[in-house]
Amino acid sequence: MNKKIYLSLATMGGNELKYIHEAFDSNWVAPLGPNVDAFEEDLEKFLNEEKCVAALSSGTAAIHLALIQLGVNIGDEVICQSLTFSATVNPVKYLGAMPVLIDSEPYTWNMDPLLLEEAIKDRIDKTGKKPKAIIPVHLYGMPAQMDKILSIAKEYEIPVLEDAAEALGSEFNKIKCGNFGSFACLSFNGNKIITTSGGGALVCNDKEAKKKTIFFATQARENARHYQHETVGYNYRLSNICAGIGRGQMEVLPKFIKRRREIHQYYINKLSKIPGVTFQTEMDERFHSNYWLTVMQIDSNSYDRDKIDRLYSFMDEQNIECRPVWKPMHLQPVFKSCPFYGSNVSEKLFNEGICLPSGSNLTNEELDYIISKIKNFFLE
Ligand SMILES: *Cc1c(COP(=O)(O)O)cnc(C)c1O
Repeated sequence: MNKKIYLSLATMGGNELKYIHEAFDSNWVAPLGPNVDAFEEDLEKFLNEEKCVAALSSGTAAIHLALIQLGVNIGDEVICQSLTFSATVNPVKYLGAMPVLIDSEPYTWNMDPLLLEEAIKDRIDKTGKKPKAIIPVHLYGMPAQMDKILSIAKEYEIPVLEDAAEALGSEFNKIKCGNFGSFACLSFNGNKIITTSGGGALVCNDKEAKKKTIFFATQARENARHYQHETVGYNYRLSNICAGIGRGQMEVLPKFIKRRREIHQYYINKLSKIPGVTFQTEMDERFHSNYWLTVMQIDSNSYDRDKIDRLYSFMDEQNIECRPVWKPMHLQPVFKSCPFYGSNVSEKLFNEGICLPSGSNLTNEELDYIISKIKNFFLE
C-alpha cells in the first residue's frame, strides 16, 4: 500500500461547498454573515440550547478571550493540565500570567483532581491569592473527571475553563463536554474531529458573555459611528467562508463520532492481546469519548526505550503517520519555570503513548493494514 495513511485527515461531508457558494453568491465573503450565525446556532443545538457560542479564528483565540473575561492579568496564576497541546497554556502567557501545571491521573490521562486541590492550597499558601482559573483538558476526546474537578473548583470558588478542543461530541455523565465550565473552548483546526480549515469557538453561559467575546474578537470597537476604542481588541472572528465549511461538517459530526469510536474498538479488538499493549479507554460508563485519536500505550517495563522509539521509524517506512502523546508542558523548555504539581504520570504517558491513525474516513482495509504492520513489528 503506497498511499500515505494520515493520523487524522480532514473529511468533507458534502455540503461544505454549497454553503461556501452561498457565501460567494450573496457577496458575504467578508467576515461575519449568515454562515457564522448558522454555524453558531448548529453548535448551540448540538451542545445545549442554553449555551451561547461565539465562532472564532482558533481554539487558542477562544482560550485567550475566556481568560481575559475571567480577569486574568499580569502576575496572576492559572492552573493548567500539563499533559496537553501547548495551545492550552500559551494564552496564559500572552496575559503575563503564570501557568501552574498539574500532572495527570492514569485513568483518563487528564488533570488529577487530588493534585489540583493540593496545588490550590499550596498556591494560596505561597502567594496569598487564589489562582484565577482552572483549565482541564479532555485529552484525545476522553472527558476529564469533571465531577471531582468541578466540586474542588466550587469549594475554592475558582472558575473552570474547559479545554474541549479535542472533545466535540464527548460526554461525561451523559452531558456533552463543553457544558461544564464558565467557558469552554472548541477547535476546528485541520485535523480535529471537524474542521473549518482553521477555526475555533468559545462556549459561553449567557448572551452577555457571547457579546463580550465578539466585542473583543472584533478589535473592541465601541458602539459609535466612528471607530472608538476604549480597550485593547483582537482580530479573532471566524470568517463567513470558514463557517460555511463548519456548517457542512456539523451535518456529519454524529457519523464521524460513531466512526472514530468504531476505529478505537477495532484497534482494541485486534491489538490488545499483544503483551504490554493497552489503550486509553473509558474508565467506566460515565465516560464517553469521541475518540478523536486512538492512543496505544506500550508498557516500558515490557519493552526497552529503543524498541518503542523504533516503532515510529518503522511506521514511517510503512507510510503510516503516528505521533507521540503530547509532551507535557512541565518538560517543555518554554514552561520550565512554571510550578508543577505531580510526579511522573504524564511523563510516562508521553514516553509510552503512541497516537494511531484515527481519521473518520479510514477504511477497515486501511485499519487491517495498519494493524498487521503493528503486529509484525512486535513479532520481530
Ligand atoms: C487543537 C487544540 C487547541 C487549540 O486549537 P487551535 O484551533 O489549533 O488554536 C487547544 N487545546 C488543545 C488540547 C488542542 O488539541
